Amino acid sequence: MTQPLFLVGARGCGKTTVGQALARTLGYAFVDTDSFLLAHTGKSVAEIVAEEGWEGFRARESEALQRVTAPATVVATGGGMVLADSNRQFMQENGITVWLQAPAQVLASRLNASPEEEQRPTLTGKGVTDEIVDVLAAREGLYRQVARHIVDATRPPEAVVEAILSALQMARA
Ligand code: ADP
Ligand code: MG
Repeated sequence: MTQPLFLVGARGCGKTTVGQALARTLGYAFVDTDSFLLAHTGKSVAEIVAEEGWEGFRARESEALQRVTAPATVVATGGGMVLADSNRQFMQENGITVWLQAPAQVLASRLNASPEEEQRPTLTGKGVTDEIVDVLAAREGLYRQVARHIVDATRPPEAVVEAILSALQMARA
């Protein structure tokens, strides 16, 4: 099986960290839609949002999803990728989607521990933890809906990789 694997979940759930490890384990390529946008526009998410608004960013994000999707590739998606029906449909039709599920407290403590990685502007202007609770509540149903598999992302990255492999019934390369 070499279908693309899409990782979805809130910011801080480990899509980049676990995705890179999963790709290494499977001998797959790894791409991150946010990094793809940075490489192709020369702008960070924050800069795109500042210049083009969230709507402009979302349009670019959808295009990035389609462009990075390829066989034998792990795709780490932006936390809001699931918001658009068309993105969810694309992921369901073009690969296998895994939700890295973690509660808001875990996400908040990870993001607070590495604030330099938290470059994305807040959506609401609230504090980080309050915002994570709200964003997760709003998106959880979408993550659940799009995902073929849901894994517990609170364990160490290697354990999350193992959980994904066993859900997919895939062996190490
Ligand atoms: P995402 O790409 O989903 O936003 P990252 O992979 O960037 O998440 O991880 C966010 C932060 O949490 C990083 O500092 C990373 O080292 C840490 N992290 C990610 N996954 C785990 C994990 N399973 N256990 C502990 N820390 C993790
Ligand atoms: Mg990431």
